Amino acid sequence: MILSYKPFILEYKHPFGVSSNTRTSTTSVFVKIEHNGKIGYGEACLPVYLGETVEGTLAFFEIAKPVLAINTDHFSPQEIRQEIDSLSKGNNAAKAAIDIALNDLLGKLAEKPFYDLMGLGKSDAMPTSFTIGIDEEQKIEQKIKEASEFSVLKIKAGTKDDKALINIIRKYTDKQLYVDVNQGWTDKQMVLDMIFWMNEKNVILVEQPMPVAMIDEMAWVTEQSPIPTIADESVKRLKDLENLKGSFSGINIKLMKSTGLTEAIEMARYAKQNNLKVLLGCMAESSCATSAMAQLMQLADYIDLDAPNLLKNDPFNGVTYKNGNVYLNDRPGIGVEPIESLLDF
Ligand code: MG
Repeated sequence: MILSYKPFILEYKHPFGVSSNTRTSTTSVFVKIEHNGKIGYGEACLPVYLGETVEGTLAFFEIAKPVLAINTDHFSPQEIRQEIDSLSKGNNAAKAAIDIALNDLLGKLAEKPFYDLMGLGKSDAMPTSFTIGIDEEQKIEQKIKEASEFSVLKIKAGTKDDKALINIIRKYTDKQLYVDVNQGWTDKQMVLDMIFWMNEKNVILVEQPMPVAMIDEMAWVTEQSPIPTIADESVKRLKDLENLKGSFSGINIKLMKSTGLTEAIEMARYAKQNNLKVLLGCMAESSCATSAMAQLMQLADYIDLDAPNLLKNDPFNGVTYKNGNVYLNDRPGIGVEPIESLLDF
């Protein structure tokens, strides 16, 4: 199998994020793994806050090349994942790109979509949340209008006054809300009071309200919370699930944290077996990694896969969006095709 790669700057339609941390672009490194006339595609999305650099990602692909220099149609992504994983401690996005491409290739060799290869079956379309950045009132109104086709909105809390923010949003829409606190609250009684208040405001889940270290406080909150509490920063990989100990009622799985689809599906299955809700999330990815993640929709309770909608120059075709719902296609592998005029490699 031959691995090649290309860095690519993804540009946002609108500056993205909270006002103190606004970004206009992110770099992804796209990979392809070729074997026997078929090509598997993958993506390493590298938002600055992840701490993985383009240089580090490219260097990792170079050291991974010998592991992939095998010549068989019947390879095991699980076995290759272990070898790739042992090459370094971090580089989760780079590992994800390789794993996504291998699973795409496997599907193409078998001429089956990944969801069939895994015995999941094709999920019906699901509504995705759409993130609206925190801004002054006039812009919030405009952003809610721009998101008119989406039935669920996601906001990043942790502002000076989160109640005021939610009250402003409620002046313009009564749509369901996901509230992502990004570890921003630290007083457990305040967190619980806030969750009860948000429950009255049609907030249907709260993501990572407290810092990763506050496991016991989170367990106290989760036990009494009327809505699901979802771990994001607290859960990157499968091994983190064993340490949750009732501190959350669900998990946000992202390919760039989990090192790819192989581990993401294990996490989703573990969550189902242990009565945890599954939210499929993403970084600022193109249709390549987003379509890979959407393959697991059959295991999801919620999806937050809006990223391709935010991009000006998405270099892949994959899942499609209609009325705020994500639709899978019937193509083999992860169901994507590069747009050659944008991405030529
Ligand atoms: Mg989050």
